[in-house]
Order: sequence, then C-alpha cells, then structure tokens
Amino acid sequence: MALGLPTTRFPGGEEQIRDSRYDVLFEPVRIGRFTTRNRFYQPPHCNGMGNLRPQAHAAMRGIKAEGGWAVVNTEHCSIHPTSDLMPEVLQSLWDEDDIPPLALMCDAVHAHGSLAGVQLAYAAYYNANKLSREIPMGPMGRPVDGTFPLHARAMDLADIRNLRRWWREAAERARRCGFDIVNVDANFSTIAFQFLSPRNQRADEYGGSLRNRARLLRELIEETRAGVQDACAVSVRLIVDELCGDVGLRAEEEGIEAISLLAELPDLWDIVIGTWAGDSPTARFAPENDHERFLAGIKQVTTRPVVGVGRFTSPDTMVSLVRRGILDMIGATRPSIADPFLPSKIEEGRLEDIRECIGCNICVSSHFMMTNLRCTQNPTIGEEWRRDWHPEILRPRDREETVLVVGAGPAGLECARVLAERGYDVMLAERSRELGGRLLHESRLPGMTTYLRVRDWRAGQIARLPNVAVFRESIMDRATILETGAAHVILATGSVWRRDGVSRLNGRPLSLGAIPVLTPDDIFAGAKISGRVMIYDEDHYYMGGLLAEQLARAGADVILVTPEAELSAFTANTLELQRIALRLDEAGVTGLTHHVLVGADSGGVELRHRHTSRPRTVAVDMLVLVTARQPVDELYRDLAGAVIDVVRIGDCLAPGAVFHAVHGGHRAGREFGAAEQEIPFRRERIDLARV
Ligand code: ADP
Ligand code: SF4
Repeated sequence: MALGLPTTRFPGGEEQIRDSRYDVLFEPVRIGRFTTRNRFYQPPHCNGMGNLRPQAHAAMRGIKAEGGWAVVNTEHCSIHPTSDLMPEVLQSLWDEDDIPPLALMCDAVHAHGSLAGVQLAYAAYYNANKLSREIPMGPMGRPVDGTFPLHARAMDLADIRNLRRWWREAAERARRCGFDIVNVDANFSTIAFQFLSPRNQRADEYGGSLRNRARLLRELIEETRAGVQDACAVSVRLIVDELCGDVGLRAEEEGIEAISLLAELPDLWDIVIGTWAGDSPTARFAPENDHERFLAGIKQVTTRPVVGVGRFTSPDTMVSLVRRGILDMIGATRPSIADPFLPSKIEEGRLEDIRECIGCNICVSSHFMMTNLRCTQNPTIGEEWRRDWHPEILRPRDREETVLVVGAGPAGLECARVLAERGYDVMLAERSRELGGRLLHESRLPGMTTYLRVRDWRAGQIARLPNVAVFRESIMDRATILETGAAHVILATGSVWRRDGVSRLNGRPLSLGAIPVLTPDDIFAGAKISGRVMIYDEDHYYMGGLLAEQLARAGADVILVTPEAELSAFTANTLELQRIALRLDEAGVTGLTHHVLVGADSGGVELRHRHTSRPRTVAVDMLVLVTARQPVDELYRDLAGAVIDVVRIGDCLAPGAVFHAVHGGHRAGREFGAAEQEIPFRRERIDLARV
C-alpha cells in the first residue's frame, strides 16, 4: 500500500526513467554567473501572501523549488514608498526590515538547489500610493489608473536621478537577501515600461525616439548591476506587445527593436505580452502557447536566454519551443501553481501524475482578494505553511478503517483520492455512470473543456489505487448506506440550482408563475429553449454568461440581467470580464445591468433598478434563474440517529465554485481521523515586541 505519493527524486537521484524526448528540458542554462539545473522557470507571480504573510510565501516558493523549478521568482517587489503598490499584498525592499522576510524565501528555494529571483518594481499610474500618500510619478502628468481621484505628476530629471538611486539601493538589499537573480520589471504598470511605450510623449532625452524612451530601462539595468556588484544575475521582464494596436508598443514595430537596443545588457529576457489579462488569458479564451507569434524573432536579436509563458502543460510543446529556437527556458506560472512538481514528474517519467492547469485563473483571484493563493487543481497551494500541506505527501492513516464517499464530483473524487492515498479503504458510490458530477455539464459549455481535467486527474489517480472501490450507477439511500457497514460516511452529493427566485438580494421566494421558469439544471437536462429568453444572473461567476452565450449561439434571443454593474461581475477577479463582454456582444446577447428581479406575470418579467428602484417590465418567453443553489443533503437528514459518523463536503455542505469543492474534499481527506487540536492553522502576526 502506498502511503502518500513517492517523494521526489532529482537529477543525480535514483530511478530516473524519463523519456529521452524530454532530455532537452533538463539541460542547464547559463544566466549570468549562474547555471540552472534545468529549463523550468517560475516567472514572478502574485499570490496574496507577499510581505503580509512571509512564512506562507516562503514555504510556497520552497515547494516550487522542491518540485524541480530551476528558477523561482517573487512577485512585484516595490523598491520605494513613492510606489507603495498598496493595498495589494506584494513585496517591498524599502529598508533593512524588508530583508529577513525575503531571505526566508531565498533560503527555502536554495534548500532545494534552485535559484531565487526578485522582481524589482516601481509602478507608474497603476497605484496611487494609498498607504504612503506620496504623490505618484510617471513619465507624464495624468490621472492614475482606475477611479481614484488623483493625478500622477511628471518626473523631472531630479526625480529620475532619485529613482535610479532608490533602484540601486533596493538591488543592493536584494543581494543581501540572498537572491541570485534581480529582475528589472518593465511590465505594463511599471515606470520602465511607461517610459518605453509610445504613450510617453516627453520632449526631453527620455521621450521621442525609441532609443530615448528606452533610456530609463537601460539606466535601471545599469543601476541594478551596480547594486548587486556581480553577486547576482540581472534579468529584464519586458512587454514586447501591448495588444492594443498602434496606441501602444507592438512587437513588430518597436517591441523586438527595444530588445535589440539593450540586447546583451541583461543576463536573461523574460517576455510578457499585454496587460495581465492579455498575458494570462483563461482557457475559455486562449489555448496553450497562445503567445508564440509574439515570441518568434526575439532570440535573433539577443544571445541572452529568453523565457516566455503560455500556460504550458504539455512537455512536447515545451520541447518544441526549445528545439525551434523560440525559448531557452519554459516560463510557467499557472502550471507551477497547479502542479509544483511538474518538472520532477517529467523528470521521473510520471506524466500521468501531472495535475494539469485548467486555465481558470482562480489563482489570479487570490491576488485581488488579497488572501492566500488558491487553485482549482491544487488545493494545497497557499496552505503549505499555515496548514502544513505538502502537495505530494500525505499523513498515513491512523488506523485501519473503511470510508464510504457518496458522490463523485470534484469534492467526492478529491476526498476519496486523499483518503485512499493515506491508506484507508474507500468505497466511492456515484449515482451516474460517469464520474465528475457538475464538471460533466459545465465542461460542455463554450470553452470549458479543460474543467474535465479536474475529474480526469483524480479519476486517473484513483484507478491506480487498489484500495478504492468505485461503484457507478449506485443511488445511495439510508438503507444502502447502512448495508455497506461503513462506520464513516462522507456525503459529497452536490447541489441543485434554485427555481424559486431566492438569491443574495431576494430573501423570499418570488411569484414567478406566469412564465416558464428554468434553471441551469433544466438546460443541462435538455430543456427546449425558444423565443426571447431572459437569464437573470445573481451568481456572478461564469454560469450566467456561458448559458447566455450558448443559448444565443443556438438561435435564442437572449437578454442577460444582473444587479451588478458588470456582466459576470466576479470574473473581474479572473481577468475575464472584458473578454466575456466582447464574447456576449459577438453572440448577440443583450446585457442589462443594475436590475434586480422582482417577479413575473403575464405582462413579462418585472425588474427594478438596484439604486433608483425604478420599475421595468421586459416581455420574454422564458426566464432562466442563475441565482443560488440548494445543497442535495436529504441523506444527511435521513441518516440522523444512525450510529455512524456522517459529514458533508463540497456543494452538499455549501455550494460554491469548483475550487471550493476540491479544497473541501482535500481537507476532509487530510483531516479525517485527526483530533481538532492536532490540525494546524498558523497565523502570521505583527511582532509587537519589535515595534
Ligand atoms: P461537488 O462539487 O460538491 O463535488 P457535484 O454536484 O459536482 O458536487 O457532484 C455531486 C455528485 O454526487 C454527482 O455526481 C451526483 O450524481 C452524486 N450524487 C448525488 N446524490 C447521490 C446519491 N444519493 N447517491 C450517489 N450519488 C449521488
Ligand atoms: Fe491553473 Fe486554475 Fe490552478 Fe490557476 S487556479 S493554476 S488557472 S488550475
């Protein structure tokens, strides 16, 4: 019996059985004075832990190194309080006190033989220095991004001299943290990029020609070199195309030329395409390796190694990019979150064990929610330190026991997998023939096929475990559950969409009898849709927008109504908001925001404006409610009084997104058999003794 997955074996370790096709991925790359252990590069990425939760941050980065990533970077690291990046939870290197938290990360990364990199950043326009209340600066005076009522002021030459000094001092601190690679961030929101962009309309030696606009970036690279004093390599993270046509930098116009101007100055080029939303599209809108057309040509203008991203999970794609001379290192942020052990699994020939990223961007949402990193595929990310969760190691069972898990959606599958890996005997009973629960329906919606990976990885792992018996087409009730003789029952029976109008804003059932009312479950079950359809969305994630797109493409006249100011409002957190708006517009969906459902009668659906209460009636033939869900938990009540231990997980306990169900299932599996006081949940607090 395997108790926990095998621990990793690195180059030089025993049992290396990797496919020789992938050898090229394990070649070393020279970055300045360092040589990497392979070509796997974790680019800078936000994680919601930052300098607020430094131990959690360090542990997460350390796990990446343990999993085989040769270079592990921080997220944005502000160099000075005149660019404070608040309230986002990121890093800073403003003074000596910022060194120990980042040194923790360097130690964690070095402990596994990888290189640690820091992304030095100074924002222009992006932040408004809400913490420090310093007036933000940029190449030109203009309002800061977003809605904050403040302008950034134009930098004069004295400001630029100050910036260069702050940068050099931060680089020097980065060296003392223990970083090996210091990155000059010329990403979208940064000062270096805003000077480089054609938006820069300065009339002095920092504006005008590309050479002039690249001057600040050149100087910041030089200051970094001066600050690190040959102890660290210097990299540049640069946008080569802003994805906004001739309003911004374009790869074929000046993007690649900018690299050729500075070609050999840094030790590595890390390439970004567009804003964060452009660089990290979800799978719904872009396939793996979507950026290749922008990356081609970069290696022709520099001999320095080039790294780029593209949500790479296929080792064959990675090999192809290296062999064709597009990239030297495989940049992978989301794949490194979904599976921190991706490199070592390729190394060990365990491709079927790789938890492939599904491209949902829930990880990105952690940044906007300013809380520990989370992931649909990898429930352990962000939990390494506070809960002691290692993605590949599980505590063996405490005693011999059999557990019955009812329901094989994301929660039940993950729970059954974890329990079985721990050594318990598991019975997994599922009503349907196919495993996957909600994933089966949702993955059929436009662009959602990758969601099936959540099922496939878990079902694949379970199939290889001898101690899980899967019972398909098994509708469990009180009697059949008791017949199994299992003393522990975990109910993962999911949820159903409500059809009574109860929602976040409507506490009571609504009077909706006058027109046909459907739920997403009805549509998945094949309900016929015709005529004018209103979808009322108070879920705010993907379901309302996806159904609108699907029904409109099938010929229905769809109006999508939401009380929020945006359609599919939660997707602002997954960087999908704009693309969804465009997709719905292309599909011919009419959007109506700020309206709350009140009821329906023969005249149509009654709405009221959320702020003004002005009533509005819309004549439609059908109403689809994407409002709230009800747990399928009758079994829980039916089992009351039985002398067995029954718990609910996932949507059966509290309906949520798939990442909640996976996390809930994982947690139940991990914590099964443990006393409450044995379960860690560590917190990081301000040390008052030092204040
Ligand atoms: P979650 O997201 O919490 O995993 P899902 O709705 O995806 O929830 O999955 C719940 C699964 O439970 C579905 O596959 C459903 O068929 C199954 N299920 C629900 N009730 C029963 C039952 N009484 N017996 C067996 N399986 C059930
Ligand atoms: Fe990939 Fe989604 Fe996990 Fe992010 S949250 S790493 S996009 S699976």
